[in-house]
Amino acid sequence: MPITFGSDGAAERYETDVVVVGGGIAGLSAALGASQAGASVILVEKSPRDQRGGNTHFADAQMRFPHQPDEYGGREYTVEAMYSDLMRISRGRANPELIRTLCENARETAEWLTEMGLEWEPGYPHTAGYRRSPKAGGQGLVDLLFRRLEGEHVAVSYETGARDLIADDAGRIRGVRCIGPEGFVDIEARGGVVLACGGFQANVQMRVAHLGRFADSLILRGSRYNTGEGLMMAIAAGAQPAGQWGDYHSAVLDARSPKIECGVTALYNYQMGIFVDQEGRRFLDEGEDFRDHTYVKFSKFIIEQAGGEAWCLFDQQAYQREEFARAWRPVGPPLQADTLKALADQMGVPSENLLDTVGGFNAAVQPGDYDLDRLDGKRTAGITPPKSNWALPLNQPPYIAIPVTGGITFTFGGIKCDTSARVIDTRGKVMDGLYAAGEPMGEIFYYNYPGASSVIRGAVYGRIAGRHAAARAV
Ligand SMILES: Cc1cc2nc3c(=O)[nH]c(=O)nc-3n(C[C@H](O)[C@H](O)[C@H](O)COP(=O)(O)OP(=O)(O)OC[C@H]3O[C@@H](n4cnc5c(N)ncnc54)[C@H](O)[C@@H]3O)c2cc1C
Repeated sequence: MPITFGSDGAAERYETDVVVVGGGIAGLSAALGASQAGASVILVEKSPRDQRGGNTHFADAQMRFPHQPDEYGGREYTVEAMYSDLMRISRGRANPELIRTLCENARETAEWLTEMGLEWEPGYPHTAGYRRSPKAGGQGLVDLLFRRLEGEHVAVSYETGARDLIADDAGRIRGVRCIGPEGFVDIEARGGVVLACGGFQANVQMRVAHLGRFADSLILRGSRYNTGEGLMMAIAAGAQPAGQWGDYHSAVLDARSPKIECGVTALYNYQMGIFVDQEGRRFLDEGEDFRDHTYVKFSKFIIEQAGGEAWCLFDQQAYQREEFARAWRPVGPPLQADTLKALADQMGVPSENLLDTVGGFNAAVQPGDYDLDRLDGKRTAGITPPKSNWALPLNQPPYIAIPVTGGITFTFGGIKCDTSARVIDTRGKVMDGLYAAGEPMGEIFYYNYPGASSVIRGAVYGRIAGRHAAARAV
């Protein structure tokens, strides 16, 4: 239950128009949005200053948003195309109103980030011509927005974790109780509280409870501070859980990655090779779709159905390509051998199986034009699983093997919100004074993940939440 003002415990009490919980892209956008709308704002951040920025700090922070044909040297990407990608990848389960609002506001929000001083890489970083990368990645994005907050005189309180929501007798959310260096602090917010404090990916108990037994040992790609408190506080206050609580975002990681806060150690080049399991057998269609639409799904497959760890194999045709290096930041050198037998021995997989797998695969490769920029239809025939695109025989030694596993980036389960980012309670009613943005917002992602859409989701809904809360106060 949320506590009320006047209950015991807080050493200090502050008042403001809007309080924002969490300093990643969603919280920073909310705080700036509220401040630019004339509200006074306090942002509380659980981490110390030198670890600020949440998951956003660890990300490349690529963003997809609609644009005109040839605008950045790519193809046209319309609001409708973005909407249809996001709905399709959620298998139609995402909340259509939330997705539409996200798509309709993505472009304008990206332009606002540009006005804030964000510099983008020229052109497109990958084959998918609809996403753009901030030049200085997620860390640069976060640092830039914190600098803007300082310019707006927004108070930022580090090492201050929100613990409880504060409600009045009518059930309206009036503030938040936090634990800081000096003890408990109550912050009253006339316009509202914006929960922008991430999912529960760093909370092992919640992970196992909601994702399953295997989830206790997942590599945590991002912030150690996203331990689900925002979700728990909101639900305790009556918010409606929403979205896919049993699923999460992941990536195909180099299995040698650090176990926590490993950052960008994903292999985004697996479509140029094949996966094999510890028995040396292929187990999925590496060329099913653009890697943007498969990396989350494949990483979960490796964890849940391929024994937790697998291998990605390449030959020199792939390894020498410029795209190969661009799509992998090595954690360590790959295994390398002149023969498949020697490679299998290094990998510790049965060499007869590996020779059989690669031989069968090579024989099944069909002729056709190889083109990583499109679904080229250069496929295998007569083997299971097939490789539906980008199938080249592995026949140019030295052969390369990289150990791969899955990890966890953020969780999909959240709380129900409307298109103004207002939280909805279990009766279906708006909870006055409570907003959620970024990872705590449910009903956006299901099963899989359309690459480059979480940072922009945080920016769009953070800004919407901040402005709405500000309008209630000023
Ligand atoms: C390695 C990696 C690469 C990624 N690449 C991309 C990409 O290219 N494009 C993309 O769209 N997405 C990417 N993502 C996902 C994306 O970065 C995140 O989902 C998104 O940035 C989340 O933003 P957020 O503001 O919701 O949460 P965060 O950025 O995680 O911010 C949440 C903040 O809340 C704080 N907090 C938590 N609990 C409390 C509390 N109780 N009180 C106060 N503060 C609290 C945390 O310390 C944290 O600072 C990537 C993620 C990782 C880890």
